Amino acid sequence: MILVTGGAGYIGSHCVRELKERNIDVVVYDNLSTGHVESIAEGVPFIKGDIFDVELLRSTIRKYNVDSVIHFAAYSLVGESMSNPAKYYHNNVAGTLSLLDAMTKEGVKYLVFSSSAATYGDTGEGLITEESPQRPTSVYGQTKLMMEQFMQDYDKAYGLKYVALRYFNAAGAHASGEIGEAHNPETHLIPIILQVANGTRDHIGIFDEDYPTPDGTCIRDYIHITDLADAHIRALDYLKAGGRSTHYNLGNGNGFSVKEVIDVTERVTGIKIKRAIEPRRPGDPATLVASSEKIKRELGWKPRYDSLESIISSAWKWHSTHPHGYEK
Ligand code: UDP
Repeated sequence: MILVTGGAGYIGSHCVRELKERNIDVVVYDNLSTGHVESIAEGVPFIKGDIFDVELLRSTIRKYNVDSVIHFAAYSLVGESMSNPAKYYHNNVAGTLSLLDAMTKEGVKYLVFSSSAATYGDTGEGLITEESPQRPTSVYGQTKLMMEQFMQDYDKAYGLKYVALRYFNAAGAHASGEIGEAHNPETHLIPIILQVANGTRDHIGIFDEDYPTPDGTCIRDYIHITDLADAHIRALDYLKAGGRSTHYNLGNGNGFSVKEVIDVTERVTGIKIKRAIEPRRPGDPATLVASSEKIKRELGWKPRYDSLESIISSAWKWHSTHPHGYEK
């Protein structure tokens, strides 16, 4: 049985769907601070609990005979992490220590963990590989890097086997259109643009056009949520087959500027998107594009949604039918 922390969140809920579709047993653990109970796949046991509740984590592990954990429960907003670092260090760093404490005490050895492209910061390089220097420009990225570092130590001391997946920009929605991205307030680029398209928002603010990129707006590598989910399952299989602890980038290897994302969205939806230039958001590096060769080579992972059009059109299926997310 796999314990999925943050399994009611955006990435977690899609991963749980994917696991269920492959008949793999999971239990979701989430405090619903940002997650949605509606997003949890039918028939999946759900424990409403906090990551700091070591006793509840331990009893959940025992009750469901948990042998591995996929850990999503974390705050993930670059901008907010800069204005409220305490929230991020407390929840992400101390929260992960609490989970590791419960796992160590219950003898759970396998962990797949969501790390981030934000651990790299501005590398100034083309494609970022796993060997690129990790110098986060945001507190959020710093928290993820710290988690990676102490997992290494837990491996050495307690034999924890982990895979850290460094996601680039997660986007898109489940093919059914039944679950998708829904944050409140929304801060992510693609959902915000699609809220302009579905009429629930007036315009998209472009955070500065003065970055050192061809059109002056930030470049990111967008990766479909179902492709991310598939990577988690492969990573767990790898660990259970005796694989050593490691880390992998997860991206498509193609960078798109903010303006390009807006242009592609206009083409996909057929709707003109109103835009305005706004000041920079602290913590944002100019360019983040992944080389995912390592996970392709070692785990046979391959993104199925390899174009921005296909990613945005799957997101549009969700946003056009759920203009207010999970709220009725
Ligand atoms: N962005 C923007 N306007 C917005 C939201 C985001 O221009 O309203 C930019 C942001 O500066 C970044 C990119 O879009 O360069 C992706 O941001 P997002 O928050 O989606 O993901 P992040 O890169 O922070 O993980």
